[in-house]
Amino acid sequence: MLNIVLFGPPGAGKGTQAVNLIEHYHLVHLSTGDIFRANIKGETELGKLAKSYMDAGNLVPDEVTIKMLESEVNKNPNAEGFIFDGFPRTTPQAKALEQFLTSKGTAISVMVALDVSEEELIKRLLLRGKESGRADDANEEVIANRIQVYNDQTAVVADFYNTQNKFEKINGIGTIEEIFGRLCHAIDRYK
Ligand code: ADP
Repeated sequence: MLNIVLFGPPGAGKGTQAVNLIEHYHLVHLSTGDIFRANIKGETELGKLAKSYMDAGNLVPDEVTIKMLESEVNKNPNAEGFIFDGFPRTTPQAKALEQFLTSKGTAISVMVALDVSEEELIKRLLLRGKESGRADDANEEVIANRIQVYNDQTAVVADFYNTQNKFEKINGIGTIEEIFGRLCHAIDRYK
């Protein structure tokens, strides 16, 4: 199995690249943000719980997120591999994912981290807010909080994979094709 963690701050371009990567490597895309948003739209219990955290730019509690992610993996028993997009976002999530994949006889192959400057991130997120209608992209304070949450709680997750020699930093500035090429080049070394 090829299991990829697609990593990077909000607005780094994970969603865009995930679409290309699933096609190229025949993987199942699991975006925790997308799954939460679908639950909010469907007005499920999970959606109701997640909404207040997401609107403020805070993380949904680990316990809830981990349970949700594991159940999504279990829905795809025949997958050739997964792209985890937006997960793990905390060290406890990374540890839970490791344990869960080990129990399934598999593991994360590599974490690819899109590297984009803070200035560029804010520009992209504000632009996306105008187009996508995502509440958490429209407000500059919420964007600032998400970047702070990323710096405080999420950035350290890179160390978890780095110590396992499974970490690749990718320049996230350039055309979509250029960045996709860099990602594939890195991923192919872990196949
Ligand atoms: P972005 O990467 O642009 O911030 P996402 O769509 O990945 O957007 O996530 C949107 C929101 O969903 C996050 O700000 C957070 O509230 C929630 N969320 C997504 N993934 C996780 C996660 N792994 N743990 C906790 N909360 C999450």
